[in-house]
Amino acid sequence: MTDPRRRIPRTDALLAEPRLAKAADELGRDRVKTAIVAAQDRARAGEIVPDDVAEHALAAVDSRRPHPTSLSPVVNATGVVVHTNLGRAPLSEEALDAVRTAGGYTDVEFDLAGGNRARRGTGALAALAEAVPDAGGVHVVNNNAAALLLCALTLAPGKEVVVSRGELVEIGDGFRIPDLLTSAGARLREVGTTNRTGVADYAAAIGPDTGCVLKVHPSNFRVTGFTAEASIAELTGLGVPVVVDIGSGLLRPHALLPEEPDATTALRAGAALVTASGDKLLGGPQAGLLLGETGLVERLRRHPAARALRVDKLTLAALEATLRGEKPPVAAALDADVGALWARAERLAAQLTAYGVAAAAVDSVAAVGGGGAPGVELPSAAVSVPERYAEPLRTGSPAVVGRLDRGRCLLDLRTVPEEADAELVEAVLRCTS
Ligand SMILES: *Cc1c(COP(=O)(O)O)cnc(C)c1O
Repeated sequence: MTDPRRRIPRTDALLAEPRLAKAADELGRDRVKTAIVAAQDRARAGEIVPDDVAEHALAAVDSRRPHPTSLSPVVNATGVVVHTNLGRAPLSEEALDAVRTAGGYTDVEFDLAGGNRARRGTGALAALAEAVPDAGGVHVVNNNAAALLLCALTLAPGKEVVVSRGELVEIGDGFRIPDLLTSAGARLREVGTTNRTGVADYAAAIGPDTGCVLKVHPSNFRVTGFTAEASIAELTGLGVPVVVDIGSGLLRPHALLPEEPDATTALRAGAALVTASGDKLLGGPQAGLLLGETGLVERLRRHPAARALRVDKLTLAALEATLRGEKPPVAAALDADVGALWARAERLAAQLTAYGVAAAAVDSVAAVGGGGAPGVELPSAAVSVPERYAEPLRTGSPAVVGRLDRGRCLLDLRTVPEEADAELVEAVLRCTS
């Protein structure tokens, strides 16, 4: 009498369930029936409770629906917080909602009260200006590369950009900042050496041909040992605009990342312009942030090329929501408490072990990624499963990307939101069948 299997809903009843009935209309009765039978089998085997049969059948049917995009959703269990190959920063729920709103007709360039044209994207620009009160002016372009391009086009056409030999950086995928500057018609004036550059090196290079001084944060490598660099404050005394590419987009200092530069500190030190990415440590959409002296930002904004680099309404919406909303996933992953990660890893490993999977909670080391904070190791916790699971996990739906380590596949929880824990367990269990 008490056998829970007696409570498994019958196939007819499930086919009449409104959502499954709708799916049967859209995708065909046979496909839905197959999913129902599979879910009933799992309930009979005690893998899921009878009350969940309909949900499981529905999930299985949904995962077989053709996606409107060829991009697949991925659970990032690599432990790399800003993973460039996995789309860098995942957007917050608020930013996703904002994108949905802005996707329709929206007042991005219209004053609803007056019924006439308005300046584009004022909400996002105001949010950025409020987040960095030290910036006199702010502007947003397509990405940080576009921000640098616009600086070079505006400040140094046919002129020199003075830059340290230690800061001629390649970001990744062959993108080199010196090449970007020369493609804009600026000439590079390299000063100093790879490991040591002082303010005197810059001073000796400055003359009538100078367009600006550029300081680039070497975000993806570190030079240690016998090194020296000129500070922003020293460079501002040279009488030319100092542009600072901080890379990762921190607006204020971050306690866990003491060596990452931030916009507020750079502006207080006297930078004329700061450029940064929106989808690295800021945790927002792909965008290039430009912050600095009011007059200079206005010149950038009015340059003819600015139109070619401008962002769309979806980016403006997501950026504003990121700046005004709760902590985005990137910040949550950076701040996650390692004790809480361990508790989750132990819970998930116990669940998997109960189903016969050779799983264990293990110590792990996560990274900031995205070409940021190369020396920083974030203590983390992972669920380790056999290496042979890595491929089926990657090709499952949703895809789960872990990290291979000495014959194991580690699923690092620092980059997995807690809400995805159940999904992670399901994905691993699917690999066992
Ligand atoms: C990432 C990075 C860039 C490029 O930024 P995108 O937003 O990807 O164009 C430029 N400079 C530095 C220092 C960076 O770290």
